[in-house]
Amino acid sequence: MHSDYSASALAAGDSVRIVAARTTATVAQAQSRHGCSPTVTAALGRLLTGAALMGPYLKGRERITLQINGDGPVRALVADVTAGGRVRGYPVRPRSELPLNDRGKFDVGGIVGRGFLHVTRTFDTGLPYTSAVPLATGEIGDDLAHYFAHSEQIPTVVGVGVLANPQGVLAAGGFLAHCLPGADENTIEVLERNARSLPQVSTLIRRGLSPEDIVASLGDTLGARVTHVQPVAFACSCSRDRVVRALIGLGLTELESMMRLDDDTEAVCDFCGRRYYFSPQEIGEIVESASADLPASDQSASHD
Ligand SMILES: [Zn+2]
Repeated sequence: MHSDYSASALAAGDSVRIVAARTTATVAQAQSRHGCSPTVTAALGRLLTGAALMGPYLKGRERITLQINGDGPVRALVADVTAGGRVRGYPVRPRSELPLNDRGKFDVGGIVGRGFLHVTRTFDTGLPYTSAVPLATGEIGDDLAHYFAHSEQIPTVVGVGVLANPQGVLAAGGFLAHCLPGADENTIEVLERNARSLPQVSTLIRRGLSPEDIVASLGDTLGARVTHVQPVAFACSCSRDRVVRALIGLGLTELESMMRLDDDTEAVCDFCGRRYYFSPQEIGEIVESASADLPASDQSASHD
């Protein structure tokens, strides 16, 4: 399998920014880490691809987190991206499933349901800013386009797609074309027309088209030129140290009850599914080394 990457381009006298990405291996990683059903794979894969498409301009510790909360069977999906094209994500109910829709496609809109898309931009200072829009269709590409148009006032054309079967992910990818300030008002129509004339983006990836080919298909008539490419990969920033800090955050009462257990305490990273184990003795060492930082025991619990 080819490795994943994104290609970013400028077009129409630098008034249009186009990003296209192949995310097949990234989505396959997510599918196997979380044991997703085919429809959840399609839904999470589209959101991960959306995150990958928003990533190429991030720097330092900047992060973009996309969270969908809906009333459909999957309940929620989360994906985030940091500089260098590192994406990760998870579904709340990975094994939920629905029959194919009446067009014979994965019912992503049905598995997501009605709800909201929350977009959080975390700046290099560590400060986050979140905005939310109601879901347009729950099909994710539409919802991202709706977010850009309404929350950021950036006319945007988005296509994200995953081709999967019960054996795995066959192809995944997407494109994002933004009209920046100063763009001619007809430009968005040209981009929409070009996007409509293309087969589904997952079909293009399946046929072997590269991200640069997809940029050209969208933006050739606007003089698009690729300015940079960068790898995209499923990567999680969790570590044993971070889990220890999270455990300390639970407070002394919780840690003391873990020390009294016969079994190891298991902590699972939501994003990547990695499991961390702590013996009662190791929990004791955490309590000892962090005793100065531990939040005080909860009053009611300590008197139980
Ligand atoms: Zn992780």
